[in-house]
Amino acid sequence: MDNVRNVIIIGSGPAGLTAALYLSRANLKPLLIAGSKWGGQLMLTTDVENYPGFPKGIQGPDLMKNFRDQAERFGTEIMDSDVTTVDFKVRPFKVKVSDRSYLTKSVIIASGADTRWLGLPNEKRLIGKGVSSCAPCDAFFFKDKRVIVAGGGDSAMEEALTLTKFASDVKIVHRREAFRASKIMVDRAKANKKISFILNSEVVDVLGRDKVEGVKINNKVDNKTSDILVDGIFVAIGHIPVTNLFQGQVDLDIKGYVMRKAKIHFGDPDAPGNYKMMTSTEGVFVAGDVHDYHYRQAVTAAGYGCMAALEVEKWVEAQ
Ligand code: NAP
Repeated sequence: MDNVRNVIIIGSGPAGLTAALYLSRANLKPLLIAGSKWGGQLMLTTDVENYPGFPKGIQGPDLMKNFRDQAERFGTEIMDSDVTTVDFKVRPFKVKVSDRSYLTKSVIIASGADTRWLGLPNEKRLIGKGVSSCAPCDAFFFKDKRVIVAGGGDSAMEEALTLTKFASDVKIVHRREAFRASKIMVDRAKANKKISFILNSEVVDVLGRDKVEGVKINNKVDNKTSDILVDGIFVAIGHIPVTNLFQGQVDLDIKGYVMRKAKIHFGDPDAPGNYKMMTSTEGVFVAGDVHDYHYRQAVTAAGYGCMAALEVEKWVEAQ
């Protein structure tokens, strides 16, 4: 059993890297499998203004670099690769990366969530040719151009505001009258002269042969369809948990989020030995956006990473 690790963390966003920090400081020598693109969703943001401890804000990638440096400082081993398969049916658990298998007593799933797309055939075809989900990455390419943002949450407002630094005109297309976004974000968008709103409307097609030339939208009130000429569309309609790897290994809810055991059994979550962050599989824990569809903040993900790590420490010791 010498080659059996105490814990493998899958994912390198705030949840995974916080878990790694705590577990390395607890001397459990965690292996963190970061994915070929490490750092999670904050790598795609610019200003992070709501992460405590940074009164002037910090750039998303800089914040993640800090998380990583701090975890590595205490000895976390990080692999910048994708997990290929997992086997949680027998203990020790097996986590495979290409043709190498790693055995471990426990696992923390912290694989986060990915962009939700509108699901239109031309949207997929034109990704990178005017269709994007990341204004901080791509806004630069839309200097003096017209763009739309699809969505009515904080991400849509944030994307629109970022785009105004380059684009000449930004329209937010939202399927309802009311916004899901926080008031402060909506107010900021409304105060920006470059931003206008098309409400009660859905994008039903993306137009253009080799690059985006416009979008077709349907007004849900009068059911009329119209074309808007734009050079880009930014899709900001939420995220999908990254759980394909874990199907059949731990219980997932109807939307594919990892479920926690405490929720499944409705037990007293504070009872001794009842682990709040454990999944339906004993020894497999979860943290961050891959289970949390409600808060989805960097700071809550980091908090869940800390909770999962403390529980892993307790659980491994109890084995
Ligand atoms: P979200 O809050 O779930 O909002 C998604 C938006 O997309 C909703 O307005 C939704 O419409 C719309 N939508 C979903 N599916 C759609 C579809 N198929 N077609 C058209 N519209 C669709 O997601 P989010 O904006 O990504 O935010 C996620 C979390 O991150 C939130 O907790 C948010 O507060 C946080 N966040 C915070 C900041 C910040 O503080 N600066 C920035 C970004 C994100 P309905 O409203 O009709 O459901």
